[in-house]
Amino acid sequence: MEKTKLLYEGKAKKIWNTQDKNFLISEFKDDLTALNGEKKSSEKGKGALNNKISTELFKLLNDKGIPTHFIKKLDDNNMLHKACEVILIEVIVRNIATGSLTRTLNIKDGTVLPFTLVEFDYKDDDLGDPKLNDQHCLILNLVHHQDELDELRRMARKINNILKPYFFEKGLKLVDFKLEFGRDLNGNIILIDELSPDNCRFWDIESGESFDKDRFRQGKGGIKVAYENVLNRILS
Ligand code: 5GP
Repeated sequence: MEKTKLLYEGKAKKIWNTQDKNFLISEFKDDLTALNGEKKSSEKGKGALNNKISTELFKLLNDKGIPTHFIKKLDDNNMLHKACEVILIEVIVRNIATGSLTRTLNIKDGTVLPFTLVEFDYKDDDLGDPKLNDQHCLILNLVHHQDELDELRRMARKINNILKPYFFEKGLKLVDFKLEFGRDLNGNIILIDELSPDNCRFWDIESGESFDKDRFRQGKGGIKVAYENVLNRILS
């Protein structure tokens, strides 16, 4: 399967059409952005690492019965996946309070939440990805019916129940992460986008050190080494 026309260029990936309308190719870029694109940089090899990490995690989730768009990794930076209708909701799953949750609600950083929090953000850069409640999602026609919101929450919790113990065994706390979903040709909701240290937070169980994009957000450096560390733990 080969790339034909560029369909969309995002901050971390280019999405290409292929000869077959049922399949797309995601090209993982080395670009790093934070603060809704205000802070920009590039880290050679980051795209290939995220492609490898996402490939492993999509395979794991597929094996555990989570439907995803993943078909196969084509080469270092390219992944073949199903085409689908994107649902413009970022599903945020949180086990430990940090990031925007601590800023907006003044919860102490590092607080273990009494239960897994699932939130919806509007996937709209111009609006700065604002928080959504169920009624907003319905008014904006982001989903067809309340049942789809319930399904997004159900799938998000199931994914967390698979990934949290998986990473714990590898010495990492899965602090929080962002998921995206789409509808396949049959209208079924499937997991799309990527799963990588760009959209997940990982803290080392022993040291508390971040192994994710927070290193870039906080100007700490060592991005590539951190992402390689996550990949090596996954492969171990
Ligand atoms: P926060 O809301 O604290 O900034 O982010 C919560 C979690 O979702 C973090 O793991 C963060 O990486 C992820 N996340 C939230 N919004 C985005 C986004 O627009 N892009 C990416 N790549 N990750 C996001």
